[in-house]
Amino acid sequence: MNGLKRVLATDIDGTLVGHGGEERFSQFVQDHPGLTVVYLTGRTRHNAEAVIDRYGFPPPIAIATEVGSEIYWGRHMALDDIWAFQLRQDWSPRKIKKSLEALPGVHYRSRSSHWRLAFNVDHVDLVDEVRRRLGREQVAARVLWDAHDGRLDILPARAQKCRALNHILTRMAIRPRHCFVAGDGENDRDLLEGKFPGVVVANAVATLRGVQDASIWLSDQPGALGVVDGLSRWYDERKGKNRESDALRFYG
Ligand SMILES: [Mg+2]
Repeated sequence: MNGLKRVLATDIDGTLVGHGGEERFSQFVQDHPGLTVVYLTGRTRHNAEAVIDRYGFPPPIAIATEVGSEIYWGRHMALDDIWAFQLRQDWSPRKIKKSLEALPGVHYRSRSSHWRLAFNVDHVDLVDEVRRRLGREQVAARVLWDAHDGRLDILPARAQKCRALNHILTRMAIRPRHCFVAGDGENDRDLLEGKFPGVVVANAVATLRGVQDASIWLSDQPGALGVVDGLSRWYDERKGKNRESDALRFYG
């Protein structure tokens, strides 16, 4: 892992794809050989690989799929067993399904993977009711509400992009300040509040555009162009800091 200087940890949908500028992004990474990419996505592994191939995005050093439920490493996509073991600890999908199916207005939709149960709700207020019920029954789970799709996902409690990223960076021996994050959706919130420098792209959900953190840049560019905008500023800023410390060395 020596020789790696910086990491970009980025969401895919809405952040890297869907708003143009995808080629500019790939070019930026190519032009910065010290920059390596970690993808953090809601997609499954196969869907994520397909989109990375389709757009010719840089191959990841690691990828966290299904909102941080699984982590894969390197070209051969080796499953991170330590992470998988931790996630399995308190994951009980059958119990969750049984508990929520008993709630009027909550409808089981599908189990899109080992780590994800999807439900529909008749009314948005039921999302809080779902949280309360799981809490009452002491079922550890993460409740993710996607207002845009009207979809309620239940994931393992530890499935979070920020947690997965911290695990990845620890294994890579990379400090948080050398990692830049990018996102557009509610499931990127923990990432953007995780004390990393980063960017919220222009098309992000309104709640994310309200993130107030000096290290987070709110770009006026959408999608991949916003990521490139944020990364460029980060590089410029670091260059400025290096110049300052050089000057201090000289005059100090
Ligand atoms: Mg997204």
